[in-house]
Amino acid sequence: MAFHVMLIPTLGCPSNCSYCWSSEEGSELMSIETVEEVVKWLENFRDEPVTFTFHGGEPLLAGYDFYKRALPLLTESLSHLKPALALQTNLWNLTDEMAELFHEYGIPIGSSIDGPKDLNDLQRGEGYFEKTMKGYKIAKAHDLKVSFISTITSHSVNFKEDIFNFFLNDGLTLKLHPALPSLRDSNPEKMALAPEDYGKLLIYLLDKYLENIDDITVMNIDNLCKCVFLRRGTVCTYVDCMGDTFAVGPDGSIYPCYRFVGMPEYVMGNVRDHPTVEDLAKSAPAKLLEEYKNYVDQECSGCHYIKFCRGGCPYNAITPNKGEINGVDPHCTAYKMIFKEITDRANKEFLSSPAMGMFGASKSKEQDSKPSIMSLMLKRS
Ligand code: SF4
Ligand code: SF4
Repeated sequence: MAFHVMLIPTLGCPSNCSYCWSSEEGSELMSIETVEEVVKWLENFRDEPVTFTFHGGEPLLAGYDFYKRALPLLTESLSHLKPALALQTNLWNLTDEMAELFHEYGIPIGSSIDGPKDLNDLQRGEGYFEKTMKGYKIAKAHDLKVSFISTITSHSVNFKEDIFNFFLNDGLTLKLHPALPSLRDSNPEKMALAPEDYGKLLIYLLDKYLENIDDITVMNIDNLCKCVFLRRGTVCTYVDCMGDTFAVGPDGSIYPCYRFVGMPEYVMGNVRDHPTVEDLAKSAPAKLLEEYKNYVDQECSGCHYIKFCRGGCPYNAITPNKGEINGVDPHCTAYKMIFKEITDRANKEFLSSPAMGMFGASKSKEQDSKPSIMSLMLKRS
């Protein structure tokens, strides 16, 4: 797992998505002094390449001047860490000036669209689609690389074909995100995608992706196939993320990941104190996540997929239980379904490969006509 620091310039956000769990009205903005403290904190923290991701809330609320000062600070003062940069935004506030700056720093952008306009606006609010697409045009005009996350809810999963075709027809890169129970809602499960439905959706997307392999990228499926092929996790959900990922909130508080930002019980320290790796490891949240890792070693020990699943996301597992560890990531059912599907298909393909033909195995017509799962395992991202 690579070293990753997420910077959260604010928890504020101008949109009002129905399943949101991470924005906070009236949230403060990170000051440039806090970024300077981030630099001082990381100067001697770890001697290895770091990725900084600006996340939120909505990080563009911090404005052009913030990025104009923050980006050189991070890249020049920490040049020994070879910083890579990324940004997750709804694009509403993107201006030509900002896009030019992000292009100068080679920043890839992740944004969010749930599918066709009506479906998207039903979930994310009236007008969301137009505003994001306006920002997308600005991003494209400045040659920025943009990929989209589609949050799939208990409602939108019924329109999975429309969603897939929307991304396919517009040539957009798709990453999907299952809606999580919103801890800030009085009915947290309302929009959440049930694990079984998530598993079925992943298998559906695997099929659709194989049918359209040259015309779309489905990032989740790429990653899942690579996890099985390499027998290790290739994204944070499927590795032990603790100790390699940190998030810094607007006030300089350090958390284990952006998902915990704004939850005081998960504060590990503050950038102003320049904590060492050892200092953070002694904090209560670090100990809790270490406990989760040990719990996974025991609880998932009999699972075929433990090496490249690692119990899924600790946030998903721990926060709905108010900080108690009494289960793994509730999406376990979905992970097992898709890992089994990929493994079974890969084994079947291997057994009917030319090499195995020498031993009498033969390919079915159906296998001949479809791109193989191996082509996804080897596809360049
Ligand atoms: S807590 Fe979950 S989302 Fe955050 S880094 Fe870990 S696996 Fe990823
Ligand atoms: S699939 Fe489930 S049982 Fe297997 S490692 Fe992942 S969380 Fe554990």
